[in-house]
Amino acid sequence: MQQWNNRTMSLLDLIFPKKCINCKKFGDFLCPDCFSKIRYNESSQCPSCLKASIDGFTHWECKTETKYSIDGVISAVVYNSVARKLVRQFKYKPYVSRLSGIIGEVMNEGLAQNESFYNFIRKFEPVIVPIPLSPKRLRERGYNHAEIIGRHVTKYFKLKLDSNVLVRVKDTKPQYKLNKRERLENVQGAFGIAKNAKIPNSAILIDDVATTFATLKEAAKVLKQKGSKRVLGVTFAREL
Ligand SMILES: [Zn+2]
Ligand SMILES: [Zn+2]
Repeated sequence: MQQWNNRTMSLLDLIFPKKCINCKKFGDFLCPDCFSKIRYNESSQCPSCLKASIDGFTHWECKTETKYSIDGVISAVVYNSVARKLVRQFKYKPYVSRLSGIIGEVMNEGLAQNESFYNFIRKFEPVIVPIPLSPKRLRERGYNHAEIIGRHVTKYFKLKLDSNVLVRVKDTKPQYKLNKRERLENVQGAFGIAKNAKIPNSAILIDDVATTFATLKEAAKVLKQKGSKRVLGVTFAREL
């Protein structure tokens, strides 16, 4: 079956040749030149005080503010123009959903190089929890992009995914349209826990882009209030 799918895919490529999402050159969804413009994220910050921190983990002194704070946020790449096009195309144009493979691979490579991430998954066997969309937005889009990215990470690191823990109880506005203060208000009370959900002891929240960390922090808070001990956020890109 897989073989047939691959054959169908290459026949489709003949009829509908792939075009680079950045420079529009024919050949691939992301040509080697544009791929090389993707930059690994090397400046990790504490999600609480936004000062430098090793591998994006929250400082101990910053955790004392609230016991429900997120334990760290790791982002694979910098949200530059190529990463932005990749995310936007993948998110809003499902016909290029094969872009998720590129996003997944780059993300896994970034995570694999992060020693703290490796230690975290080895020690705590966290469950992958994608940031949910509202039922309305899920209907419109047909898929949750965070869940698709999450599946790549789950498979690569041999973890478990549970997309039935968190639910979006408030239909929030897209974060990228808002300033920092509005983003915080926008996500407040946005998440709830699903009925009969199995609360993971340790969780990794997955999202596409981290900007103010507002969404990830709010989701982590909800999980911790219900009993999760450790919650890490992982995103494809970091917008500075
Ligand atoms: Zn290109
Ligand atoms: Zn800090």
